[in-house]
Amino acid sequence: MFTSQQLREQLSSIHRKSYPAYKSLKGAYDFKNFILSIDHVQGDPFASPSHLTIQVPAKIAGFPDFCFSSKSVQIAVQDYLLRKFSQQLSIYNFKAKGSGKSGLISTTNCGQEILERTACEINQNFLILRFTVGFPANGRTINSLELEKILFDFLPSCVQKALFYKNLSGKEIESVVFLAEDQEFIRKELKKRQLVAFVANGSILPRESGISQKPLKNAIPFHSPDSLSVEMNLPHKGVIKGMGISRGITLIAGGGYHGKSTLLTALETGVYNHIAKDGREFVITDASAIKLRAEDGRFIKDVDISLFINDLPNKKDTHCFSTLDASGSTSQAAGIIEGMESGSTLFLLDEDTSATNFMVRDAFMQEVICREKEPITPFLERAPQLFSKAGISTILVAGSSGSFFHIADTIIQLDCYQVLDITKKVKQLCSNYPLPPSSIPAFCTPSFQRVMSCNKKPSYKDRKLKCQGKETFSIGKDTIDLRYIEQIIDYEQTAGLGELLRYAQEHLIDGKRTISEIVNLLQKDLENHGFKRICSNSYISCGMAVPRIQEIFSCFNRYRRP
Ligand code: ADP
Ligand code: MG
Repeated sequence: MFTSQQLREQLSSIHRKSYPAYKSLKGAYDFKNFILSIDHVQGDPFASPSHLTIQVPAKIAGFPDFCFSSKSVQIAVQDYLLRKFSQQLSIYNFKAKGSGKSGLISTTNCGQEILERTACEINQNFLILRFTVGFPANGRTINSLELEKILFDFLPSCVQKALFYKNLSGKEIESVVFLAEDQEFIRKELKKRQLVAFVANGSILPRESGISQKPLKNAIPFHSPDSLSVEMNLPHKGVIKGMGISRGITLIAGGGYHGKSTLLTALETGVYNHIAKDGREFVITDASAIKLRAEDGRFIKDVDISLFINDLPNKKDTHCFSTLDASGSTSQAAGIIEGMESGSTLFLLDEDTSATNFMVRDAFMQEVICREKEPITPFLERAPQLFSKAGISTILVAGSSGSFFHIADTIIQLDCYQVLDITKKVKQLCSNYPLPPSSIPAFCTPSFQRVMSCNKKPSYKDRKLKCQGKETFSIGKDTIDLRYIEQIIDYEQTAGLGELLRYAQEHLIDGKRTISEIVNLLQKDLENHGFKRICSNSYISCGMAVPRIQEIFSCFNRYRRP
């Protein structure tokens, strides 16, 4: 390791030289209170900025033990510190001058959810922050005086203010930790009480707009109907009441625009913890829940969709079904089977985004088109078995088909954003609208023995990764479309998925391992080492978040392979 004085000297020796001389700065420097490491230096002032890391020894950072009481608490503290550090950096963004990205200083911009990210990491020895800096130049000539300002004035001030416990509000950190512990408590309580979701009274579910995830101002707060109300005694917040959704099949009914999808979306994101004041911090869903929807045109490979689809007119085998261009119903069938494979125990569906012919067939249609001519066993008929035979619950939004009333264990109505429990009332009516008799083919647990294929050992070029925001990334010539994986809520998760797929291509996909073997290996690696081994660079950079195992499956399932 070098001293900071050596860095100063090196900076002055490259002043006014041509840009590549900046490369000589790569290395770690001791700043007494922290170690600054310059991990990667950009090629020119217009290229993506340089990657830097700050490590503060745990003793100096001074965070008390209660910040590490569990993994989720640690992630919440990391998230908090990252937000604080990012705030400090933004004060100095572009305060140093020059061409191109000169003077840019930034790190991850956190949203409403609390995610495990590479930008901030706490371990036994260090508090680690990763960020990027545009090394300043005039034209392509190094201006190291400006970089000196950044490294010797700006950064030490950011570290002082955002990363030393003594300079932060102890109260604030305590409330971050307490919230994380309360959220964790609710998650555990769900399991104990056979619930799949909890929505606290007073929660604010709608968001400001399609482009802002902040809570909607003046929204009507959530309130549970008495019959579904549960009480929990949280370790810190104390007694809290709200709606408990039991295992089984729950139907969310109601007129258009009455808030059905808003509730479902809140449940979808309830797999993550939210920050204080989000409005959804006490909306907690079974962490394995997945949103399922129709996805015309998606790629499907070797999925056993025979539970839902059989006897296709083209005689295609549905026990091992592949297509480059799925229909609405086959895509949704595949989504469900893949969801089972990923270990999910809660499916979330909205009629609006489902394939109608996959969901239900009414009596008249059954009479005209006889069972033998219809390859699809609709979800309506399978959902009860998914629960009784595979332990998978469903929460379904339905506004148009009454058939679902028959299979639901709980029926809630949204009426002007208020939740009503109408189960009893509707169950009494069911006999007036009987379901047509039908013979459901037997329930056979699908086979998940899908080997993940690859045609050749990918060359370096084939593995070039490009992340284009939240919805897609490309690897070599292939683009992976994640547009309809609605529970990916941050582009850093997508970037993480890209790295995982690239790593799998290089090390795990061998034409012998099954998808679930591969995904489970990756998941273990992530859990034990973060992105350290998975990341292809010699250093870890900011810009990646750990995805859930369900999204890893979803991503790998959409990777178009031979
Ligand atoms: P549905 O799915 O029943 O048609 P949505 O959930 O799409 O209805 O909600 C319709 C509109 O109402 C949305 O613009 C949403 O932001 C708003 N909204 C939902 N819940 C509330 C609430 N609790 N308070 C105020 N506005 C809400
Ligand atoms: Mg809707």
